[in-house]
Amino acid sequence: MIELVLPDPSVVVLVAAAGAGKSTFAARHFGPAEILSSDAYRAIVSGDEANQRATPTAFRLLHRTLERRLADHRLTVIDATNLERPARREILLRAAAAGVPAIAIVLDLPPAVILARNAGRSSRAVGESVVLRHLARLRASLDRPAPPFDGEGFERVILLRDPAEVDSIAVLRQPVGTA
Ligand code: ATP
Ligand code: MG
Repeated sequence: MIELVLPDPSVVVLVAAAGAGKSTFAARHFGPAEILSSDAYRAIVSGDEANQRATPTAFRLLHRTLERRLADHRLTVIDATNLERPARREILLRAAAAGVPAIAIVLDLPPAVILARNAGRSSRAVGESVVLRHLARLRASLDRPAPPFDGEGFERVILLRDPAEVDSIAVLRQPVGTA
């Protein structure tokens, strides 16, 4: 078992391609009210978690809820792909404003595993081309000389590359004072 000690409060930013297992990981380790999911907000605003036209409004609401939770120093998990630096920046700005540390958990799993998981979904498997695009984006940000997401403001970036490792994680919380 791998013990992952997370500051509490913190903002836990999941980073991974569609189908990698972000929502499964979040549900396994965190309470439902702690998880802000872009899919859930798309469903709230449009009735369809896959409706991309709902994305801007969904993220506005997600970010507003994050601000409210951080003002109350509540640990919050962001369940979205978070593959683009500007998307992460919206979260990091709010974490910094609240004096709450941000931790990235990157599910950098083998493409074959992610493609198989996506294809095996009973509902809402996304197109394989979408997953491949996500994987390419993640590779581009990880395969650089600099540490992952260097300079973006994360207190820690946890890279998980092995599916067995992901499955063996136990999340512990370390209470911390906040600014
Ligand atoms: P999306 O970005 O589209 O929301 P996601 O990253 O949230 O995708 P999940 O919905 O959590 O991915 O998982 C995708 C599929 O992979 C699901 O069918 C899920 O049951 C399966 N899966 C997720 N994690 C694991 C795991 N640790 N072991 C085996 N199967 C898994
Ligand atoms: Mg999901």
